[in-house]
Amino acid sequence: MYIKSIELINFRNYDNARIYFTNGLNVIIGNNAQGKTNLLESIYLASIGKSPRTSKEKELIKWNSTYSKIIIEYVKNNNHKKMEIYLSTSQNKSIKINGYYLKKISQLLGEIYTVYFSPDELNIVKNGPNERRKFLDVALCQFDQTYFYNLNKYYEILEQRNKLLKSSTSAKTISDTLSIWDDQLATYGAKIIYTRLQFINILSSIAHDIHNDLTSGKENLRLEYVGVVDTELKKIQAKLLDSLISSIDKDISLGYTTVGPQRDDIKLIVNEIDIRSFGSQGQQRTVALTLKLAELEVMRRETGDSPILLLDDVLSELDETRQSKLLSKVSDIQTFITGTKFDKTADYNIITVTAGVIKQ
Ligand code: ATP
Ligand code: MG
Repeated sequence: MYIKSIELINFRNYDNARIYFTNGLNVIIGNNAQGKTNLLESIYLASIGKSPRTSKEKELIKWNSTYSKIIIEYVKNNNHKKMEIYLSTSQNKSIKINGYYLKKISQLLGEIYTVYFSPDELNIVKNGPNERRKFLDVALCQFDQTYFYNLNKYYEILEQRNKLLKSSTSAKTISDTLSIWDDQLATYGAKIIYTRLQFINILSSIAHDIHNDLTSGKENLRLEYVGVVDTELKKIQAKLLDSLISSIDKDISLGYTTVGPQRDDIKLIVNEIDIRSFGSQGQQRTVALTLKLAELEVMRRETGDSPILLLDDVLSELDETRQSKLLSKVSDIQTFITGTKFDKTADYNIITVTAGVIKQ
């Protein structure tokens, strides 16, 4: 799939801009603070329904404006389509595809597939497990509706369980009531873990090859899921239920649920060393990039469609060899790359942006 054009009206620092793209490499060049990331943000918004930078949607509307509009023309399965996103200071966001309003924002998932990479993505490697779980969830939710459903169910039940754990009811009553939640929690939790395990399995082998190539054969990367794991869904469910029951006292004293997919993690191992703690800055950055490129490849296999790659400020962080390797890897999908300069000469679509004004 690919995006043909975007029109941005009162979006961030854009008044009114229409930008045309090629189904290949689109290079967005500009000095700092001109609107490069803002442009990628609008594409991410059309894909995930959220900004990668803020949870406050009103921040996306141009200062002193009351609304913002994004119109995207794109091609999916050979069909020409149009998406319109409307943000307002007084109402909730609304989205139309080919003229029809979406009833729920979740209907947006799976429409425009993207993989987004910015310097913040380094947090996937460096920060706590939360970032790595988010990485898994954002990827899986895009192409697996059942996963999205199970995840929402799981968090609903988890919230109830945690509420009970925090309540002032006696420990005895709490532990008697918990069993109602624990069965359901283990059922949905096991489904989530099982799907994640399958995803990590494929991701690990693809990431291994990509990383090996990016590092010219110097580094062997492998991924390992950390949590309640087993080979079969039923076994995971039974183990999870056991763990929930055996951690009841701990959970009551802490006031929250200490086992389950909301606590799990991914180990990133390079040459048998845990890169999360012991990797150099450059190694961690390359692992983060590898994970994103591997995510893209899994998504492409799962959906039979090629996702759009958004690379914000990535080139300046890579040495020449890794830059060239990266560009050769993305030659067959629509890619948006931002930077303050771009030295490579080839037939790329170069877009320059100055204070929210586009020149093509
Ligand atoms: P860098 O190279 O530093 O990453 P950039 O070109 O990616 O720069 P953007 O993050 O796209 O820059 O931001 C461009 C400008 O948009 C910023 O100066 C910011 O102050 C401005 N901006 C952000 N939100 C709004 C808004 N709601 N209304 C108007 N301007 C905004
Ligand atoms: Mg930027």
